[in-house]
Amino acid sequence: MSAPLLNVTAVSKHFGGFTALDAVSVTVAPGERLGLIGPNGSGKSTLVNCITGALHHDGGNIDFDGGRLDGMEPHQRTYRGLCRTFQIPRPFTQMTVLQNVRIPLMFAGAVRSGTRATSVQADRDGMALLEKVGLAAKAQIISGELTQIDLRKLELARAMAARPKLLIADEVMAGLTLSELDEILALLMLLNSEGAAIIMIEHIIRAVRNFSQRLVVLAAGKKIADGLPGAVLDEPEVMKAYLGK
Ligand code: ADP
Ligand code: MG
Repeated sequence: MSAPLLNVTAVSKHFGGFTALDAVSVTVAPGERLGLIGPNGSGKSTLVNCITGALHHDGGNIDFDGGRLDGMEPHQRTYRGLCRTFQIPRPFTQMTVLQNVRIPLMFAGAVRSGTRATSVQADRDGMALLEKVGLAAKAQIISGELTQIDLRKLELARAMAARPKLLIADEVMAGLTLSELDEILALLMLLNSEGAAIIMIEHIIRAVRNFSQRLVVLAAGKKIADGLPGAVLDEPEVMKAYLGK
């Protein structure tokens, strides 16, 4: 097995006297599709926030792509290839759809090649990306006017523009219909086929089970299972966490 891309070792996070994460360890291999599940309040978003740097953990270590992330600012982590989407999409609502993907395109291009992409290049690459996610016809629309599903697609296009090595998708499917859900799943598979590892956090078990090569389950801040999706979902402790109370 190759060295893990992400290596979270015994990470803890407290909010005052409350333990949100209790020595959680998780690895993600390059190109792997990992599902992260657990009841509401089990610590999934807190773990994501510690990995991306929105929160600072207070115990353990986080290594990514051969280097330590502890203490790094979120944008430095993005430079290194770590990207996340938000539970609530956060595009620049006053900008057009195309302008929204141009920003991460120019940013990622500048970081990787040391030169800024020209405006023409950014437009061309931006349109290619919008074509991929099915938003090309809406390139000139102001982002604030998009529907929920199109906002999710724009959020994914913005993430794809940054060419992440790891994308963390925190409940990108909340509130979508079943056919919309399949569209988003297909986009995540596309991004994965281009080499990105993906952590999917999702309440819809059917979706996360079909997508994931491995499942990690959190309950009350602790990791209670880690393994093949079918086996993990059959574990009594996992069933109890979901159905127990
Ligand atoms: P999940 O994403 O699994 O639903 P969260 O990670 O959002 O769970 O929350 C885990 C627990 O930590 C919850 O009890 C939540 O209330 C608490 N929590 C999360 N963020 C904060 C914060 N900034 N301050 C205090 N408590 C928090
Ligand atoms: Mg959450």
